[in-house]
Amino acid sequence: MSRYRLYPTPAQDQVLMGHCAHARYVWNLAVEQRSWWQPGRPAPGFAQQCRQLSEARAAYPWLAAGSVIVQQQALRDFHAAYAAWFASLREWRNRGATIPPDQRPAAPSPPSWRRRGRREGFRIVAVRPEHVRRLNRRWGVVLVPKLGWVRFRLSRPVPVARSYRVTRDRAGRWHVAFAAIPPAIPGPSTGEVVGVDRGVTVSAALSTGELLRIPGLRPTERRRLRLLERRLARARPGSNRRHRVKLAIARLKAREADRRRDWTEKTSTDLARRFDLICVEDLDVRAMTRSASGTVERPGRGVRQKAGLNHAILANGWGRLVDRLEQKAPGRVQKVAAAYTSQTCNACGHVARESRESQPSFRCVACGHQAHADVNAARNIAAAGQVVAARGGQGSPGPVNREPLTLGAVA
Ligand SMILES: [Zn+2]
Repeated sequence: MSRYRLYPTPAQDQVLMGHCAHARYVWNLAVEQRSWWQPGRPAPGFAQQCRQLSEARAAYPWLAAGSVIVQQQALRDFHAAYAAWFASLREWRNRGATIPPDQRPAAPSPPSWRRRGRREGFRIVAVRPEHVRRLNRRWGVVLVPKLGWVRFRLSRPVPVARSYRVTRDRAGRWHVAFAAIPPAIPGPSTGEVVGVDRGVTVSAALSTGELLRIPGLRPTERRRLRLLERRLARARPGSNRRHRVKLAIARLKAREADRRRDWTEKTSTDLARRFDLICVEDLDVRAMTRSASGTVERPGRGVRQKAGLNHAILANGWGRLVDRLEQKAPGRVQKVAAAYTSQTCNACGHVARESRESQPSFRCVACGHQAHADVNAARNIAAAGQVVAARGGQGSPGPVNREPLTLGAVA
């Protein structure tokens, strides 16, 4: 992502705020719809919600006056967030059974309401090269639907992008971030296959036995963050002190996000270079909803928000990693339906919940095979991926649809 400061005129500012309001409205509608969902009943999919959006646009002129791209992408963002949440919930349930109740982390919380003035933004897709222009050495312009050209500061060269996101921070500053498509990386052409399992304690386990951890804040930084958050709670609203503390918190969080982004780039490049076939879990929302109907309870009320947020961050990191893999290794990423990968013995194929004796270890109750639980799962994913790929695969479509989306499987 390359981010630039956007400088709309006061009139343009109003239209941008309108786009944000529409995106927020659509997102909140999707949240509300999900809250009606009962286990055993199919939840509305993306396509169905797009049809409902058309109906809503027909009924409400103020919604119809806005950009349909902005509104549809808000739905797509919601589905991506929901898929990520669902995956972390499933994992929380899988692993929770192996952890003593008093040490069990809180359930991850689902995507929630967006409030005015917080995390405001929208996404534009189907961007063509002529939609971004350079005015001179210092200024560029970007074409925003229903608005026209908006100036941005050319702080560095703009990458070729098929989509961009416009955001407004709490201080009222606008930014535009172009999602650049990284070039494809050639594989080793040795037929090397890898399975990748997503985890909470281990961010990703490879079938080769490697355990990868996504970096976060260092212990000293985490302590400082907690301190700042306590200070913020005590600071008087509107005071200078409060403003300073907020800024310091934002800086720490940005540092963490940078490290995670960096890890995702390096890991995806490394995997694309070392392996010809990369097998990952499929996080298809509809498939997950089906397999979950009647079995996954909705998480209880009052779950600790912090722990839930932590899960969500890891889940998002996973989505980004898979996106990047599909861009850097087009046609070489195989998604597999990952039911029971964590409970199946990779040596004999026996499926038993009891084989997962504790979080880090797997011991097959049938044959006694022992392995790191995540590595065992990664090997099952690699095996399943090879089977699907041999059948002609339904893996990533290759260079045809390379528009960066948060999750490939949500449409
Ligand atoms: Zn076994």
